[in-house]
Parts: sequence; structure tokens; C-alpha cells
Amino acid sequence: MVDTPLLKIENLEVRYGAVEALKGVSIHVNAGEVVTIIGGNGAGKSTLMKTISGLEPAAAGRVMFEGHDITRMPGYQRVALGVAQSPEGRQVFPDQTVRDNLLLGAYHRKASAAELEADLQAQFETFPRLRERQEQPAGTMSGGEQQMLAIARALMAQPKLLLLDEPSLGLAPLIVKEIFAVIRALKSRGVTILLVEQMANQALAVADRAYVLETGHITIEGTGAELRRDPRIRAAYLGEH
Ligand code: ATP
Repeated sequence: MVDTPLLKIENLEVRYGAVEALKGVSIHVNAGEVVTIIGGNGAGKSTLMKTISGLEPAAAGRVMFEGHDITRMPGYQRVALGVAQSPEGRQVFPDQTVRDNLLLGAYHRKASAAELEADLQAQFETFPRLRERQEQPAGTMSGGEQQMLAIARALMAQPKLLLLDEPSLGLAPLIVKEIFAVIRALKSRGVTILLVEQMANQALAVADRAYVLETGHITIEGTGAELRRDPRIRAAYLGEH
């Protein structure tokens, strides 16, 4: 018997008025995998993530999660099912403390204070800088720290699927390295991740499988290693000519 993928997207179409952002996209993510979507500006990567988390409606096609059709399910119900997104641009609550931002990630869970505290401590193990800064307003932290917080906040939902939309965006190379180290650590703990990135080299290195999205179409797919060797990817996304 073939296992049902955790996430299966079939012929997804999304439009913004006359703009067709996704033109029939089909991808899947199996439990325990890290899958990455690479693609240039405007390819439709963020739109795909928003449609999975329920922030953008599908014009056609289906989003299946654990074999259930969630295409028309509101976003908050998807969070309860186990889909959590760390959005592009981070979007932490700037006036709230780090600790309160993290607790907001768990708002839908019926967890006891002791369980929440244990989960906070688990995030602090992965992200030690957040422990030191837990009483600091999130808006006063550096870009890299806010990115860590956004990922940790998504993890507080105890997701079955973690959606990471361009976690390296606008960050210095050293911080990007740290972010990818965190992604590798999460992967080794078995967290299932769908990662959208423009940093194709690092994303392909951490990914089990990958898709290339170009102007609303999936044009190439394969293992991370296959795509890193692919001359089309090397020329278009890895800066090699
Ligand atoms: P980037 O890497 O630059 O963030 P992306 O691959 O995430 O790009 P999307 O943000 O998904 O791309 O955008 C896909 C297309 O849809 C683009 O042509 C964009 O201009 C258009 N688009 C995105 N959001 C909207 C919107 N709210 N209204 C109208 N058009 C939109």
C-alpha cells in the first residue's frame, strides 16, 4: 500500500484579478520530508504557501492534507489540523515580548500552563538567543532574531507541517547559515517542512526533494541532489554559467 502524502496539491490555480499566479500546480510532501520550492521573484512561491495555509483562495484544484480536502477550509482550522506557517517578512508582533509572541503561536491549543512552559523551554533549546531575550519586545530584535522567533512561534503550534516562506530573506550570510542550521536540526528531529527559498544552493542542500516554480508552473522536480547537479538549475539559480 502506498502511504498517503501529508500534503498533496493537485492542479492548483490561483488568480489575483487578471493575474494568474498559479496555473495548475501539483506537488506533494510526505511526512518527515523537507521539500523545497525554488524560483525567482514573482514565480508564485508565496502565493502557493498562502493557499496552503488558507490566506488565499484557490480558483481551481485541490489542497489535500492527510487525505482530507482542505481547499475551502478557513486558515484557523488548518492550524488546528497541524499546518503552521512562518510567513515571508516574519511578521512578529513588535510590541509584544518574545515570550508572548511564542505563546500566541499556541493560542489554539488546549494545553495546560505546564505543557506550554515545557514547549517554550523546547524552543529555547533550539533557539538559545530567544531565551536570553524572552522579555524583550520582539520589534527591537535584529532581523535574524525575528526570523528565529517567527519559526519558533510556528513550532509552538506543534505543527505536522511547517511552512517556511523565504526564511533567509534580507539576512546577512552568517545569519542565513544559522537559519539553515536550525532547519537541519528540525529535519533531524523529524519535522516535516515545506521551504520556499531564493537561496537555492542552501535550500537544495537541506531538501530531500525539490520543485522549481516558474511563472506559476512547476518546471523541474527531483531530489535535492539531482537538482543541484542539473545544468539548467546551475545556470538559472546557482549563478553558474
Ligand atoms: P517573491 O520571491 O518576489 O516574493 P513569489 O514567487 O513569492 O515572489 P508571489 O508573491 O506568489 O511570487 O507572486 C506571484 C504573482 O502574483 C506575481 O506576479 C505577483 O505580482 C502577483 N501577486 C501576488 N500577490 C498579489 C496581490 N495581492 N494582488 C495582485 N497580484 C498579486
